[in-house]
Formats: sequence, C-alpha cells, structure tokens
Amino acid sequence: MRSHLLNGTTAEHYRRSVTLGVERVAATVAATDRPFTGVSPQALAPRIDAIDLDRPLGDTAAALDELDGVYLRDAVYFHHPRYLAHLNCPVVIPAVAAEAVLSAVNSSLDTWDQSAGATLIERRLIDWTAARLGLGPRADGVFTSGGTQSNLQALLLAREEALAGGADPARLRVLASKCGHFSVQKSASLLGLPADAVITVPCDAERRMRPDALARELERCVRTGLVPMAVVATAGTTDFGSVDPLPDVAALCARHRAWLHVDAAYGCGLLVSRTRRHLLRGIEHADSVTVDFHKSFFQPVSSSAVVVRDAAVLRHATHHSDYLNPRRAVTERIPNQVDKSLQTTRRFDALKLWMTLRVMGADGVGELFDEVLDLAGQAWLLLDADPRFEVVTRPTLSTLVFRWVPPEGSGGAFGPADVDRANLHARKELSASGEAVVAGTTVNGRHYLKFTLLNPLTTPADIAAVLDLLAGHAGRCLTLGETLAHAS
Ligand SMILES: *Cc1c(COP(=O)(O)O)cnc(C)c1O
Repeated sequence: MRSHLLNGTTAEHYRRSVTLGVERVAATVAATDRPFTGVSPQALAPRIDAIDLDRPLGDTAAALDELDGVYLRDAVYFHHPRYLAHLNCPVVIPAVAAEAVLSAVNSSLDTWDQSAGATLIERRLIDWTAARLGLGPRADGVFTSGGTQSNLQALLLAREEALAGGADPARLRVLASKCGHFSVQKSASLLGLPADAVITVPCDAERRMRPDALARELERCVRTGLVPMAVVATAGTTDFGSVDPLPDVAALCARHRAWLHVDAAYGCGLLVSRTRRHLLRGIEHADSVTVDFHKSFFQPVSSSAVVVRDAAVLRHATHHSDYLNPRRAVTERIPNQVDKSLQTTRRFDALKLWMTLRVMGADGVGELFDEVLDLAGQAWLLLDADPRFEVVTRPTLSTLVFRWVPPEGSGGAFGPADVDRANLHARKELSASGEAVVAGTTVNGRHYLKFTLLNPLTTPADIAAVLDLLAGHAGRCLTLGETLAHAS
C-alpha cells in the first residue's frame, strides 16, 4: 500500500496516475457535445449504489474506467457554451494546473509552519485585491471557501464591532436588499441574531437597493432603539446582476455609523475590467467586501476571499491554541493566517489566482469577463425583440431573467398558473434533453427562467437556439395540457 503514498520513491507512479486522470478529462471535455446528458437521480443512483466500496480495484486506470460510468459521462459541464444556468464559470487552464500543484504539495494555510511561501502568496493576493478595491493601507483579509463563508465572517466581524461598542445583542439589525443573497439571512441566524434581525430594503425597477428606502429603515432603527450593525450592499445580485448604488449606500452608512459590507461575490470580476470598473464606484468605502474568484475570475471552486478595510477587526476571529498558534507567535511576527480565519486546516486556493495572474494577467481575466457582459447585452436585445418572451431588466452584469408568454392571439385562454407551468416545464424538458441548461427563479411569485452567462464562447446564435427550444417546450406544454383537458 505504501506505493500509493506520494513521496520521492513514487514520483513516477504519481506522474502516471495524475496523467491518466488528466487524459481522461481532456478526452471527455473534447468529446462533450452537450452540457448535460439529462440523467435523472433515479437512473444514476443505482449505478453508484452498486459499487462495493469494500472491494478496491487496486489501480487508477480501472477506477477511472469505473468513474466514467458513475460520474464523468453524466456530469454537468460548465465549459459547454449552452450551459447557461448558475454562477459557474468555465475554468482557466493556469488555475487548473495550480490545482494539481496545490493538492499534491498539500500546504495548509492555517500556520506558517504548514505553508511557508503559500502564506506569503496568499497575503500578496489579499493585498492585491484590497488595492483593486481601493480599501486603503490598513486593509487585510483572508481566503475562504466561498461567498457564503465570506459573508458570514464579515457579519461576524460587524457583530463583534457592534457588541464592542456596547450594543444590546437583542437589538442588532442587518439591512440588505430584497435581492441580496440568502446567505445574509443564514449568517444572521448562525450568529445568533434575533429571528427578525434582517431588515429587507426594497429595490427599484432595476433591482437595486433604493437609497430612500434604506434611509427610511435606518431612521426607523434609530427611532425604535435598534442598532443597524451592518448594511449589506450587493455588487451583482445573484438573480439580476444588479449593483446597489454603492456611493449612496456608503454615505448613509457613514451617517449612521453602520458597518458597510459589500457582497461582490459575483460583481468582483469588474475589478479587472478595463471598461466597466466604474460600476464598482463606491466600493472603496466598504468596511468589508466578499469576492468570489470562482465566479467571475474563471477559477475552479473554491476560491473566495473576505477583505476588510481595517486589519485590526480580524482579531475577532483570533483564538490562540498552544499546539498551533500560541500567543508568542504574534510577538515573534510569525504570519499565521489561522488568526484571521474561521477555518483551521485550509487549502492553498490562492495559488490558482496567483498562477492565473502570472500567466494571463489581470487584464486577460477582465477581457473574458467583459466578453460575457457584452454577450449579455446582445442576448437582452434578442429577448427584448422576441414577442415569445418578456424580460425583467436590462442586464448590468451577465444574467437575464425572462419568461415565455403565450402568443398574442391566445388572448385570455391561459391564466398565470398555466404560464408558470409552461415555463417550469420548458426548463425541465430542456435539461432532460441535455441540449442546454438554464436556471429558474421567481419574480413577484411567478415562475421565470434565467440565463447566467459566464462563458465567453457562448454566442448570440446559442442564445437564439436555446430560446427556440424553450419556446417549443413551453408551447407544447400548453397545447398538450389543452388536449388532455378536452379529452377528459
Ligand atoms: C454566489 C453568491 C454568494 C454565495 O457564494 P458561494 O461561493 O456560493 O458560497 C453570495 N452572494 C452573492 C451575491 C452570490 O452571487
């Protein structure tokens, strides 16, 4: 069994095994003609259940052959131009190469003595990100597993700052827009805030937080003795890609001394856009920012960071342990990232961004993001001109929320429930066919479809083809329903 341990004597076995895996993926990716096979959980589960985990195959090639049948063949492929569903990006090759390096070396970023240069590389990238954000000389932060964790940590810091200021825990409130991410609510509950701690601020027609409404809510807090411990502004809402008016929100936060957290999990790609950086204007006023490199920087999952204006607030995440990061290490100036993190053992995810910047450069990444934003603009023109669909808002980033509507002539024959059904059906049928994958969401209680565009290789022709497929499925759903109704 020792031959399976990676070390100086097994380097050749390591090279062969990893190469087999890489070759398998390369062949699969090259042959993938659709984003998904449409396999159902019911069809796939027996294949996975049938594998006897107590009878190993003994050999990587055999295990990869088996993996093909239980995973690779039926996986969802984000690199395919007709994968249009969630905030999953095609990944850049320098980052995938880095992934192979970081898992083999297996540094752990909790302490210097488990990571050495990896800690310094992560710190450089946090500084680089903070500089792009414009957070000033005292900024710091740490890589996390994702936007959910970054938001949780930011709100933890905000809560501790409020409590340090003498606030009553029962009176703490967090203000976020109606279109903010659900992890804000989840964080509030994990942080033990009152059940009604998250105050929802209404949005304008473009799905941006309304500053007048925020001002009203903040004043209501003051009047009723509540403490607005944080305002969460979103730079790139998950459904609509809308960017809250950061300068106005920041001014209100300053007036009320509320912590400003900007959730830029999605919009962070604008930091490297040469043409659209201005959309993040105002982010430099944030006390904390969430960035998800695994969304708009084309990085493999996971790669995210929480960045703060004032390094000192990270002390709220610091706990010393004799075996790991004794207090002494601080005076000896030993850089232990665990002092800033909610995690202990932690991957060297930063290496992926490092390799990406060293190979492609920031402008290279920004160019790719700009291409998908341009595509979103073209897709909006298509949708807006298409009478078969109605689209909610013109995109700022790269999502489009729309729905199929029955043809003009069918006047009144179909109610809102029928239209909901047709859109749900269209999405399901499309996914089952594997020809494309789109997402769904609700707007004012009605079912809508959603494109999230993150692939520069997707073309307007792909969009047009997928719209035809959706319209076909939706139309057939209603006629079929009609036929059945008449038959019964
Ligand atoms: C995706 C997203 C999150 C959550 O990030 P994960 O990396 O999925 O944990 C938070 N906020 C926004 C706005 C997002 O789009």
